[in-house]
Amino acid sequence: MIDITKTEVNVLVELQKAETETVLIESYLNGVEKEKSLLEEKLGDFQTALDKLKSDFGLTNKACIDADLEMKLNDARIEKSSDNLKKVNSKDYAALLREIDNNKKRRDTLESLYLKNLEEKETQEKVIMEQEQLYLQLTQQIRSQQEDIDRKSQADRERLEEHRLQRRQIAETLNPHILSRFNEISQASGGLAVVEVRDEVCRGCFMNIPPQLYIEIRRCTSLIQCPHCNKILYHIEVLSQ
Ligand SMILES: [Zn+2]
Repeated sequence: MIDITKTEVNVLVELQKAETETVLIESYLNGVEKEKSLLEEKLGDFQTALDKLKSDFGLTNKACIDADLEMKLNDARIEKSSDNLKKVNSKDYAALLREIDNNKKRRDTLESLYLKNLEEKETQEKVIMEQEQLYLQLTQQIRSQQEDIDRKSQADRERLEEHRLQRRQIAETLNPHILSRFNEISQASGGLAVVEVRDEVCRGCFMNIPPQLYIEIRRCTSLIQCPHCNKILYHIEVLSQ
């Protein structure tokens, strides 16, 4: 049982007011930060999609280069085989002709592959340029939205600092045992540690307070917690007496 005076209960009520304001502004500012990071995520997603386009473009470009290179090698083979035609006997001649024919077919395949990739590359290049332009616009738009959010929440950040300072100053004047009880309950309950009892009902959990406990709250000589929600209880009329 912790002894308490009316003055200390009054301080607790003031501490709770500062705590409530602090928690409310903190929660609002957390929402603001979340909004900012959602915008950042949107930008990140766009960047990822753009990177994918560039990587696809790289693959198409590589396919173009490979097809072109193989075409050149193939041309050299055809040229060499054609030269050899003059030097060989009739049996090898037929084999060489077949080889030349096969290489020419391969060349046609490579050429259409090359042209297909070239066309695709040009399309991809165009899309990338458009998307880069959009990415720039989106970046500017998002940066400006984020700055706007920062500007609008600046006053709230300042208010938060004031309430935090006020909370610290009030806490310093309180008996450490009472303060530590307050802090425990506040941490466990999201910032609400001290609540009023009105008409024998706890305003924290809206449950009835047993008559004997109610008398003790009105007596205001020891720190009383709600048997249901554990919050510190006070009676407003007692404090104003
Ligand atoms: Zn309660």
